Amino acid sequence: MIIVKIGGAKNIDFDNIAQDLKNIDDQIILVHGASKTRDEIADNLGHPAKTVVSPSGVSSVFTDEKALEIFLMAYCGLVNKQIVAGLQRNGINAVGLSGIDGRLWEGKRKDLTLVKEGDKVKVMRGNHTGKIEKINKNLIEVLLDANYVPVVSAPGISYEGEIINTDNDTATTLMALALGARKIVSLFEAPGLLKDVNDPKSLIKEIAKEKIQDYFEFAKDRMMKKIMSAEKALNKGVKAVYFGDVRVQNPVTNALTGKGTIIK
Ligand code: ADP
Repeated sequence: MIIVKIGGAKNIDFDNIAQDLKNIDDQIILVHGASKTRDEIADNLGHPAKTVVSPSGVSSVFTDEKALEIFLMAYCGLVNKQIVAGLQRNGINAVGLSGIDGRLWEGKRKDLTLVKEGDKVKVMRGNHTGKIEKINKNLIEVLLDANYVPVVSAPGISYEGEIINTDNDTATTLMALALGARKIVSLFEAPGLLKDVNDPKSLIKEIAKEKIQDYFEFAKDRMMKKIMSAEKALNKGVKAVYFGDVRVQNPVTNALTGKGTIIK
């Protein structure tokens, strides 16, 4: 089983991805982001994403009620259905699901957020976010057994049944571990992990999992989440993680054949 994670870039060619998936002789689960689409809808609706900074200096998006609605429009509405239609057009029997459906991604809500503003730290309530702890593996297995390709995205659901925004890369790793996936392919708008994010020629081709921490220094912004998720996956049983470029022809086989970064 292979989990293919597609990042939240705009203008992804889903027909290209679908054609490529047909080359793969293994069970496939697709996970996708939609961050750029979300930001565009949020701007158009006059409710741009609100970024807050924690006391330790880590920035994150604060998901208030309206932001959650926009999140659902972008992830579960627009992008999930565009991907499912793209796969269906190419003869792949895809089914779209969010982490809410069948409690696929379940966890704890984190309602309170500590936010640093100048010299002060304040508590903000009403964050619709959380941490996924549990995967409904049975739901995915039922679909795979019936030859459907699950297309999954955030958000997830809390134990109390509230919708929680969550990190796709972390949830992808949890799902891979729950289902015993052998490989994770993570596609985004760069050729793989770069030594210098501004130089596509600085691609790191291979990383031994025991040495992965030596490469953390190259990961800027959200790339850190991807490399930390890869480390956890590899330490707990996934055989290899592949980072590759979502913008090229046949992006999945491109990554699997070593044209991006292989971590194993
Ligand atoms: P997603 O598409 O999954 O939402 P992000 O856009 O959050 O992914 O993260 C991928 C981006 O991270 C890349 O497009 C690139 O701009 C940035 N990035 C930061 N550091 C690196 C690095 N060392 N190598 C490659 N990309 C990096």
